Amino acid sequence: MQALMMNSQLMISSILRHADKNFPDSEIVSVTADNPRHRHTYKDFANRSRQLANALAELGAKFGDRIGTLAWNDYRHLELYYGVSGSGMVCHTINPKLFPEQVNYIINHAEDRFIFVDLLVVPLLEALQDHLPKVEGYIILTDEAHMPKTTLPNVFCYETLLSKQSTSFDWPEFDENTASAMCYTSGTTGNPKGVVYSHRSTLLHALGGSMPDVVAASYKETTLPIVPMFHVNAWGAPYAALMAGSKMVMPGPKMADGESLQNLIETEKVTFSSGVPTIWLALLDYLDKTGKTIPTLTRASVGGAACPRIIIERFKHQHDVEVIQGWGMTETSPLGTIYCKKSGMEDLSEEEEIDLQCLQGRGVFGIEMRIVDDSNRELPWDGVAFGALKVRGPWVCSGYYGLSQVPGSEGCPVDELGWFDTGDVATINPQGYLQITDRTKDVIKTGGEWVSSIEIENAAVNHPDVAEAAAIGRYHPKWTERPLLVVVRQAGASLTTDELLKYLSNTLHKISMPDDVVFVDELPHTATGKLNKLALRKSLADYQFP
Ligand code: ADP
Repeated sequence: MQALMMNSQLMISSILRHADKNFPDSEIVSVTADNPRHRHTYKDFANRSRQLANALAELGAKFGDRIGTLAWNDYRHLELYYGVSGSGMVCHTINPKLFPEQVNYIINHAEDRFIFVDLLVVPLLEALQDHLPKVEGYIILTDEAHMPKTTLPNVFCYETLLSKQSTSFDWPEFDENTASAMCYTSGTTGNPKGVVYSHRSTLLHALGGSMPDVVAASYKETTLPIVPMFHVNAWGAPYAALMAGSKMVMPGPKMADGESLQNLIETEKVTFSSGVPTIWLALLDYLDKTGKTIPTLTRASVGGAACPRIIIERFKHQHDVEVIQGWGMTETSPLGTIYCKKSGMEDLSEEEEIDLQCLQGRGVFGIEMRIVDDSNRELPWDGVAFGALKVRGPWVCSGYYGLSQVPGSEGCPVDELGWFDTGDVATINPQGYLQITDRTKDVIKTGGEWVSSIEIENAAVNHPDVAEAAAIGRYHPKWTERPLLVVVRQAGASLTTDELLKYLSNTLHKISMPDDVVFVDELPHTATGKLNKLALRKSLADYQFP
């Protein structure tokens, strides 16, 4: 029997319509290259998003076209999120911090027709313009007074374009499975790969993420998404905040600057914020140095990389802020798991609670997860067995743009059983809390056993003379592979191999003990700041254990 309910399509524009009608006075505060503190309301924002939709139509952009953005977190980027997707086009966010050749590849692969670019990123496109034959026009995200002199062809000023348009626009309704946005993974292996989100996946992700035991989106919150809008839709904040009517504070280009973040938090009374660990370290160091405070902030969500215990402790003890660690990836929109206690955990001691926060969190409704062995057999949730982490759910990607969509085939990240292979290796404890132990490609396989490279690195960086450490597997005639530890010493330190190995033997199992240590001046990193182990393995290709 068929149900008798309206079959309304889940549309991103419905969030904007809801926000406009119900919270017209909620505020959006932004830092931009042309204004240190721009303020407007949801009502202004909704009007301008409709003007943008009219401007896109006038430019000749069509349903399904990819519209690139190279921009920071601010109100204009937010308008693009809604104006572009709401019109049925695909909002393709591009990371301005990638290497130019990656930006070039991504724009051409997605076949972007127009690119909306922040003032500060214009030089990057000027350098690439001759290699972007498919781009028909560039729109600079500023007003006439700040328009730069540029060599870019077919240039428009964003504010001038909008000012000529009507604030009326009827958002079209279409199939909720239509592409709404696109984001390329940074591609530490091979070329970047395009993840394509739908209206449906985006709405369900925002609803799932808003729940009280996830991030509890609410009108009571003033939210500061520091995680960039060019990376996995700022973890969904631009959608969840507007659903709830939260005040939004957008940090613009000043994303990793402790002073600006403290100032925004204090003056705009921010209560909730989200970012990667390095951002929080910058803020905490700034607070230590200046004695300044962040009294309104109560919760900070952390993800993208494992959150060091010290961040959780410093936030809690010095600033009374609760850290909420989550795990996810571009391919999972990104919400996968998140920290939250469960019933039965009311009486945890402070130390036990911090232990729990150091894990990557527990399952959220909408995502199923499992860990499997080399033969794709499910492993127990006992906190000991570790295997490849696989997930599935309505906001997990089923394939990459332009690559095979057939489960189990080359290029498709989904196996024959319909599970997405995350490329992470993890354990899950009996309470259902996930712990990422490594990336599949970084795990060290020695004599048939798996050793976590991250466990070795964490143990090494605890030594006061170690600034940074990377563990990789190198060929060994008896064990096939053994761990090699590559270390950058702290400035002025004279740590030796024997001293470090002796120190590690206090914490590491014999099987995880590195067979040797190599000291280097610096380690290679990707454009997003993660350790580039591929490059490291290449540079040590000829290494032989003594
Ligand atoms: P990329 O770096 O390839 O662009 P993402 O930014 O999507 O990919 O990063 C996803 C990866 O980041 C995950 O697969 C995982 O390895 C790592 N990651 C994300 N959150 C956490 C976390 N809380 N703890 C440990 N690792 C994490």
